[in-house]
Amino acid sequence: MTQNPKNIAIIGSGLVGSLLSIYLKKLGHQVTVFDRRADIRNTEFSGRSINLAMSNRGWNALREVGIADQIKEIAIPLDKRAMHVIDTPIYYQKYGKDGEAIWSISRGILNRRMIDIAEASGVDFRFEEKVWDVNLPETKLYTGDTEKGEWTEYGFDMIFGCDGAFSRVRHKMQRRSRFDYSQDFIDVGYKELSILPNADGTHKLDKNSFHIWPRGNFMFIAMPNLDGSFTCTLFMPFEGDVSFESIKTKAEAKSFFKSYFPTVQNDIDNLAEDFFKNPTSAMVTMKCYPWAYWDKVALVGDSAHAVVPFYGQGMNAGFEDIFVLNKIIAEYGDDWERIFQEYQKDRKPNADAIAELSYRNFMEMSTKTADPKFLLQKQIEKRFAGKHPDKWIPVYSRVTFSDRSYAEALAEGDAQEEIMRQVMGLPDIEKKWDSDAVEELMLELLKASRL
Ligand code: FAD
Repeated sequence: MTQNPKNIAIIGSGLVGSLLSIYLKKLGHQVTVFDRRADIRNTEFSGRSINLAMSNRGWNALREVGIADQIKEIAIPLDKRAMHVIDTPIYYQKYGKDGEAIWSISRGILNRRMIDIAEASGVDFRFEEKVWDVNLPETKLYTGDTEKGEWTEYGFDMIFGCDGAFSRVRHKMQRRSRFDYSQDFIDVGYKELSILPNADGTHKLDKNSFHIWPRGNFMFIAMPNLDGSFTCTLFMPFEGDVSFESIKTKAEAKSFFKSYFPTVQNDIDNLAEDFFKNPTSAMVTMKCYPWAYWDKVALVGDSAHAVVPFYGQGMNAGFEDIFVLNKIIAEYGDDWERIFQEYQKDRKPNADAIAELSYRNFMEMSTKTADPKFLLQKQIEKRFAGKHPDKWIPVYSRVTFSDRSYAEALAEGDAQEEIMRQVMGLPDIEKKWDSDAVEELMLELLKASRL
């Protein structure tokens, strides 16, 4: 169905706002994007220019609008995890079937590229214009230098809030009756650090791996960049024995990296330097509903659903919002009220599911990875999946490499978990975990379950 061109504002030129602008422009609308930041194409990256893992859902959304190939040029495929476990040589775990990979991509470089593409297609960007207020029924927005200073008023036919987890647009919607909202911070923070390239510009670690140093209640990860460096993230409690708070001097930071991360010894000076240079940031799960105000305003991306990053899906989920919205637009043409209704009905259960999966992954990484019973369960699942790949698809694969919904992945994961609860309850499971009897029981339980 064709559409009448509308005059549309998008608030936020982040990953989601810039992709949405490309989609809406392609549909023939006039699109203006506002961002409080300066143009990221003219600024040096700060300590928060983290890397992201792009997976299937993200690529689908880029492919649909014809820009996946351009973006692949700036991404590196990672087909396995590289596990850096203390007192054990580095070992590798393939992600899935041959060819399955997640892609490491610099947030800053990706954002610059998408703004370039959007601008070339005719989208108008207005940087350094912070939106302070939105008049929802009249689709007006107000920008200015300060909250109390003078504002400029703009009028549009529609407004999309792509202004992230602490969205101003959502804030305005929150003041309406029957608007649900919750926000939960975890007690773990993160800090970005980097591993520099070798003198000849090559990578110091395998560049096609997602590197993980699991250390119980803290964890270090590294993803490669095109220039030979790795962007690393240290996830660690804010407070406690080993925590961001407990490391107070450069010497303490050096000794921390030295004792816990032996495979990055050559970068200790640099890591300790970054430790004090870069900020420690918090992570939040944010849920809300509804996501739309009549046919006038809608939230897309983190403004509607922020998740903790332990599944690497926040941006992917935001891109999938756009992919789905576009399909709904194709179905309902100009009926924007219906479009927004269908969009939020479709996406909300999936956003809740990926929030739950991401939170569970955080709990799993922080509390369970040292539990022998949990490790045994994972071993049994792995053995079974290896023997029956069509019957037991790990939840990670469903989330990362498939097109099926997040809600379905969560439901299937719950059903698998129920089967494993029964298997782990068997007497002497530690002794017979790799027996035919356990395998047969799992096949039986599977048959009886909805999987
Ligand atoms: P944002 O990126 O937050 O962009 C919002 C934009 O709105 C910004 O440009 C901001 O300046 C602008 N803005 C805000 N308020 C205003 C205002 N009042 N007026 C004007 N402009 C405004 N996702 C993945 O898919 N894979 C990963 O591997 C991954 N790793 C992550 C690791 C970490 C440590 C974190 C924290 C997140 C990670 N994510 C990952 C999630 C991902 O970063 C987010 O989901 C994604 O950036 C959301 O994009 P967005 O455009 O909705 O919001």
